[in-house]
Amino acid sequence: MGAIASVLVAGGGIAGLVSARALALAGFHVTVMERRHEITDEGGIGIGIQSNAMHALGGIGLADRCVENGVVVGKVSIHAPDGRTVSEQPTSRQYGGRWPGFTGIRRSALHAVLVAGAREAGVTLLTDAQLVSMEQGPAGVRVELADGRNLAADLLVGADGINSTLRAQLFPTHAAPQPIAEGVWRAFIPGVHREDVRIMYGGGGGTIGYPPMHDGIYIYVVDTNDRAPDHGDPHLADRLVALIGGIPGFPGELMRHFSPDAAEVNYRRLQAVALPDPWYVGRTILIGDAAHAGPPTLAQGAAMGIEDGIVLAECLSANNDVEAALCLFMQRRYTRVRTIMDASMTISEAQMSEGGRPRMIEAQRAAAAALALPY
Ligand SMILES: Cc1cc2nc3c(=O)[nH]c(=O)nc-3n(C[C@H](O)[C@H](O)[C@H](O)COP(=O)(O)OP(=O)(O)OC[C@H]3O[C@@H](n4cnc5c(N)ncnc54)[C@H](O)[C@@H]3O)c2cc1C
Repeated sequence: MGAIASVLVAGGGIAGLVSARALALAGFHVTVMERRHEITDEGGIGIGIQSNAMHALGGIGLADRCVENGVVVGKVSIHAPDGRTVSEQPTSRQYGGRWPGFTGIRRSALHAVLVAGAREAGVTLLTDAQLVSMEQGPAGVRVELADGRNLAADLLVGADGINSTLRAQLFPTHAAPQPIAEGVWRAFIPGVHREDVRIMYGGGGGTIGYPPMHDGIYIYVVDTNDRAPDHGDPHLADRLVALIGGIPGFPGELMRHFSPDAAEVNYRRLQAVALPDPWYVGRTILIGDAAHAGPPTLAQGAAMGIEDGIVLAECLSANNDVEAALCLFMQRRYTRVRTIMDASMTISEAQMSEGGRPRMIEAQRAAAAALALPY
């Protein structure tokens, strides 16, 4: 297969937008197709960007903008449900310490940085552009959108998330993500400022984390019990307050600021997908959650998608041959992503089992060792 000049990216999420900017900066003609009417986050409230992802974003000139729009956090403290401090450690600055170990940022702010970054690099951003199918041959790829439009390019990047249409078409045995026996509550508590990321293991049925954002605290509660609310439940905030309000070690000042009426609260059942090597067929490659998604126990899901986007652009720039470029991409990505995925799953299972703490610590060590290596 010959060289490529044009790339279609399905999905305007974090992985899609990062890959689009990286590819455009490398000289490719890039179009992003996003099914929704606007390219925004999907309401996940906040996110932590660790130094590996920040380093990758720095390579395409977006890290400083993320830091400006977020909060740099220097310390992680682990607490027991009774409030006792179990450990305190600095957030880990990898890759020579140039980038902060942990930056808390609102998802809407991160998306705004990524959309602007793609536009500035010359990426064409199409909204209301839902990919429904694709065909490919030796000369290129053609996609069909839900409204009947057809688009063609030399390469197709599937960054269409955990329920990927492209994964279902190309890898039917991995079409559906697997459910994990956990759900996660997420909420925003405005007007509170903290210096550290606090994590409480064993609270609320699983783990509670509350990293700071620039304008308040993002709180997530991993719930190992089946407390899934109905879709559109108007009492979501009350249910979350009931879940965490009685935990003795949960800081009372946070509860005082938590306004069940005003808070942004959501609940999501967790799912996982781990596509085996390779993640490509012909001229179509999957990246981000479309290829690999696990429980958010290491806060590395988006980071892996960000790294995917940067590495893909590097591999395509360095190789005129598509097959050679995608093969090199898999050599650089598969083992690293799989190690992080496996560690995330182990931590998720360990936090649901009695006496799982040693396994959890072992998995955290394995992930830290993998992340210390270059991507
Ligand atoms: C509770 C929770 C907390 C998390 N915390 C962190 C964290 O702190 N740090 C971290 O690094 N990661 C975190 N993650 C993981 C992170 O959120 C995901 O890995 C990341 O958002 C996935 O990005 P993506 O671009 O691959 O997919 P998505 O965000 O799912 O984006 C896919 C995009 O494709 C679009 N799309 C879908 N189908 C089509 C189609 N057919 N045609 C066109 N467009 C389509 C969608 O509308 C969407 O915009 C967390 C995840 C959860 C659930």
